[in-house]
Amino acid sequence: MRHSLYLAGALFLASPAAGQSADLPAEILPPALPWSGASERLIAGKTDPWITPAERADFAATPRYSETRAWLERLAAASPLITIETFGRSGQGRDLLMVRASKGGKKPVVLVQAGIHAGEIDGKDAGLMLLRDIALRGKDELLDRVDLVFVPIYNVDGHEAMSRWNFPALRGPREKGHVANARNINLNRDYAKADAPETRAMIALLRQLDPILYVDCHVSDGFDMQYDVTFTYAGWGRYAYHKATAAWLMERFGPHATAALERAGHVPTLYPSPIDTRAPQKGIRQAPEGPRYSTGYGDFIGVPTVLVENHMLKPYRQRVLGTYVLLQAALTLAGDDADRLVAAKAADRASRPADMLVRWKQDPNPVGWVEAFKGVAFDTYRSPATGRMEQRWTGQPVTFRMPIIGQQPVQTVRLPKAWWIPAEQTDVIDRLRLHGIAFETITAPRKLTLDRVTLRNPEVQRAQDGRFPMKAAFDHDTGPEELPAGSIRVRADQPLGLLAASLLEPEAPDSFLVWGFFPEMLSSPPYAEDFVRAPLAEALLASDPAAKTAFERKLAAEPAFAADPEARLAWLTACLAGHPAFTLRYPIGREF
Ligand SMILES: [Zn+2]
Repeated sequence: MRHSLYLAGALFLASPAAGQSADLPAEILPPALPWSGASERLIAGKTDPWITPAERADFAATPRYSETRAWLERLAAASPLITIETFGRSGQGRDLLMVRASKGGKKPVVLVQAGIHAGEIDGKDAGLMLLRDIALRGKDELLDRVDLVFVPIYNVDGHEAMSRWNFPALRGPREKGHVANARNINLNRDYAKADAPETRAMIALLRQLDPILYVDCHVSDGFDMQYDVTFTYAGWGRYAYHKATAAWLMERFGPHATAALERAGHVPTLYPSPIDTRAPQKGIRQAPEGPRYSTGYGDFIGVPTVLVENHMLKPYRQRVLGTYVLLQAALTLAGDDADRLVAAKAADRASRPADMLVRWKQDPNPVGWVEAFKGVAFDTYRSPATGRMEQRWTGQPVTFRMPIIGQQPVQTVRLPKAWWIPAEQTDVIDRLRLHGIAFETITAPRKLTLDRVTLRNPEVQRAQDGRFPMKAAFDHDTGPEELPAGSIRVRADQPLGLLAASLLEPEAPDSFLVWGFFPEMLSSPPYAEDFVRAPLAEALLASDPAAKTAFERKLAAEPAFAADPEARLAWLTACLAGHPAFTLRYPIGREF
């Protein structure tokens, strides 16, 4: 679940009070499409001592953390190929588990994670089956050229908050975890700002392993369709910021995974993110994405990353089997292509883009078409609950032509040579260190000409994922600065230069500024008496023709400003030399 406008807490509101739930119909979901496929042969027999908990439950249930851990520890005890490690702790203090499947030696790593949105847990139960078959059932050749590192339950606190009311649109398992972590932070919005302990652990793990392939397992939301396993990459490949890894994903991963899934009886496609779930024929949306997401983060750090979005209305059994097939195909291909992947990563990390796209808008003309989209028919009925027409999916397959709605660039920023961060911005500096972005600290003051950014019309947005994001327009001006000792210089010329740009360029959609890291910018300047401020401002207007011209232009253009004595005085005070540096002033300077 990823691209819908989705409130993490909304599903809790849907939970009825205790005692009111017993009489609801058992099946409120649309009809399931009939399915059978060769991948069903992967399921262990009922008497198999290595049957996984989900198989034993006929995929009606998924095991809790403790049962999952116990099963994996038993497997590790039985096979020299499997070891269990921890890579951090959750907010509630649970160990974050990773399983390493390896034949030894130093091989490139394929990193697979399940349950970042804990209710979307298909990857965990598929991974357990695949690990069993690697360890004990003759599939160990998958480890001849790569190691598998598998995180069975990434959002472990959300996973343990299981309820039948979580993810009600998913056809199984019966009880599912919560989408976000214990502080209601959606971990698949947190890669850039890195607030959650789980995110910080995952970023450290990514740096430690530096995988040649990163797979993030989800279940979709949206609309009904015939496809069961869908997947995509940052910006659908089309809008990726790093081109070499994106090309490998599109040219190699996509066709290979598709062929493997079709051979096993599944119906794969590139993840279709709907423009309008009530009118699927309007098309599917493709757009650039920032490093808040796993896929966007992978793109910015130069790690090929796959988002798996199994279709919500397919039975859990079918979804788990499809995930197994996809993961096996990913391991095989990563082994075949290990050298190409290493080269693609190196090419991306050696690239030094001169600019970065930060704003885009929907392209009025489709950028492509899906000629025969495998959809499902629906009709509508008037709901006594909502009072409006609601959609009812009929389970009847239909095929239609589907436009791909792309994006046009609106704003691109030219990247500076370096960014300058004051020593007191410790939250930001801490995160640069976590991400592995290189910087230097100056030990003596330095004089430089810097581009400085001032906020215009800042607005604090509704709370999201533990923060109050900020929206503003930005004015740039260039001037001399004296940077004190202890200031941090982050140069763009480094392998993670593009990630640094995405965090430090104020206009970038996932910048620290946009995520609300600098609330001090919105505080008022220190108080001074009007009988002093007014003559100071008058003196400024008399002595500084540039300030006078800008002031008069603003008076003419903005009647509300002209009618507001306090705003006029605040604006003029801000023009005075020696004014407090932080009011509306972005603390990070840009060196060209
Ligand atoms: Zn998801």
